[in-house]
Amino acid sequence: MDQIRIENLEVFANHGVMKEENALGQKFLVSAVLYTDTERAGFTDDLKESVHYGEVCHFITKFMKDNTYKLIEAAAERLAAALLIHFCNLREIRLEIKKPWAPIGLPLENVSICIRRKWHRVYLAMGSNMGDRERYIRKAVERIGEDEECTVKKVSDLICTKPYGYTQQDDFVNGAMEIETLKSPVRLLDFLHEIEAEADRKREIHWGPRTLDLDILLYDDERIDSESLTIPHADMCNRAFVLKPLMQIAPYARHPVNGKTAAELWRCLEEGGCSY
Ligand code: ATP
Ligand code: CA
Ligand code: CA
Repeated sequence: MDQIRIENLEVFANHGVMKEENALGQKFLVSAVLYTDTERAGFTDDLKESVHYGEVCHFITKFMKDNTYKLIEAAAERLAAALLIHFCNLREIRLEIKKPWAPIGLPLENVSICIRRKWHRVYLAMGSNMGDRERYIRKAVERIGEDEECTVKKVSDLICTKPYGYTQQDDFVNGAMEIETLKSPVRLLDFLHEIEAEADRKREIHWGPRTLDLDILLYDDERIDSESLTIPHADMCNRAFVLKPLMQIAPYARHPVNGKTAAELWRCLEEGGCSY
């Protein structure tokens, strides 16, 4: 992606672990690489199609001055998120905050934190088979949309399905959604667990009845295998109740491990199943 670069914007602000730093303030230098597609702006010569670097610099200055953090890690994290949320053509940012002559009692020129953050494309599966099933799902979509680190891009139709795995339970309502998020996979999972808990989700029987289940199907092209998280979702290719709604909203979304699109995975399952 194209880049707009801002180097060493000077801001006098009050971040630091020590009280004197918060009271007296000091100079910070902020650099940013703004990743955006500049081709349209290039051909139309229209600023609205780009990211206004002047506005970005004023935004950075105001943000750095209006807030006080102990850590430059915190300042960088929140500032990167605020910029990505505020500037709609900004897809990704590399942000560096330098603290010249940080007060450590040694002749240090600079200390800095440098982070890279972006909007991620994610597909989620939603399911419910207790109470007002559709309402639980609609509420979850609304709740995710209200979070400023998430944007809901598409929501599938909701379908009624027979239970999977543990079959002695009521039918499910299932759906899928496409979101963009600034949250890392682990923070997104925590957020989804929070929403499930608000819906009074209990974990008693594995694959048992639930008011709300929110699973991460795909997260960019990431492949993650950890104790608490498997991405792509480990069993998604074998589940019609996942693939059907996913195919509706994202037929071309590609599974990064087996290389198949959602439409191909769905067709495969319908035809009797391929094993991936
Ligand atoms: P399944 O994951 O087979 O659909 P489930 O949704 O009923 O089963 P839960 O009880 O909701 O299972 O989740 C159990 C754990 O699965 C979660 O606490 C979470 O840590 C883990 N997990 C691993 N990968 C994922 C993922 N991609 N999305 C959501 N949870 C995941
Ligand atoms: Ca699940
Ligand atoms: Ca789950």
